[in-house]
Amino acid sequence: MELTAASRTRRRVIGRTEGGPGPDAPIYRLRDVIRVYREADVETIALRGVDLDIARGESVAIVGRSGSGKSTLLNLLAGSDRPTAGSVAFLGRDLATADDASRAALRGSEIGIVYQAQNLAPMLSLLENVRLATWLCGRPLDVVGGRAALARVGLADKAGRRPAHLSGGEQQRAAVCCVLAARPTVLLADEITGELDRESARLVLELLIEACDINGTTVVLVTHDREVAAAADRIVELRDGSIVDGAAFA
Ligand code: ADP
Ligand code: MG
Repeated sequence: MELTAASRTRRRVIGRTEGGPGPDAPIYRLRDVIRVYREADVETIALRGVDLDIARGESVAIVGRSGSGKSTLLNLLAGSDRPTAGSVAFLGRDLATADDASRAALRGSEIGIVYQAQNLAPMLSLLENVRLATWLCGRPLDVVGGRAALARVGLADKAGRRPAHLSGGEQQRAAVCCVLAARPTVLLADEITGELDRESARLVLELLIEACDINGTTVVLVTHDREVAAAADRIVELRDGSIVDGAAFA
């Protein structure tokens, strides 16, 4: 598989419609987003007035130095954090003002998150983990479907194993498998390939981009790896809490 954005077939529809959440409207629309952390007397301005549109079905790589605000931005897209000021519209709903229950519901059904740290259930086999993940989001897979999902990430022969009996790379692939199998509308990943060997990192990356191209999933991934970033449709660069490149889709 050739991992350059230009060489891939685009199945997504990109529109420029202003306003409401029509089929061509951006899936995310961020306006003047500010996030300030306050700890005791110390204030850190992590995001200082970010405007960002993301199209449905687009893959976006967020790059920037450590401390530039990448994880802060991803947490806002995930609805797991709220901005200090500004709006984070997802499918036309403002996550900044949505209550905890509706943000949690979105994370359950529409937004899939691949964490840096593993979030597999240790007492369950990989097959059980995949089936649990898909059941939780309301799109349950049976045993056959669960095995097929594991086969796609190269873990068909490990279906009966618990996470502790796998390598780090295999655990990461299993975690990605759980999120992909749940078929979220949006898939968010924060530096997930950082601790993987090259081979595993490449496989994980291919799976994410494939989800974007084939299923029309919107993919936003944070990475410091330029090769990974180049495989996305668009690169958004953060510097010191501001977007310095790639804020709007083409
Ligand atoms: P990145 O992911 O690009 O490395 P972060 O979004 O994690 O950057 O952090 C941006 C800035 O906000 C950094 O200066 C960081 O120290 C600060 N920061 C992040 N999370 C917190 C927090 N929970 N409390 C206080 N400061 C934080
Ligand atoms: Mg980070």
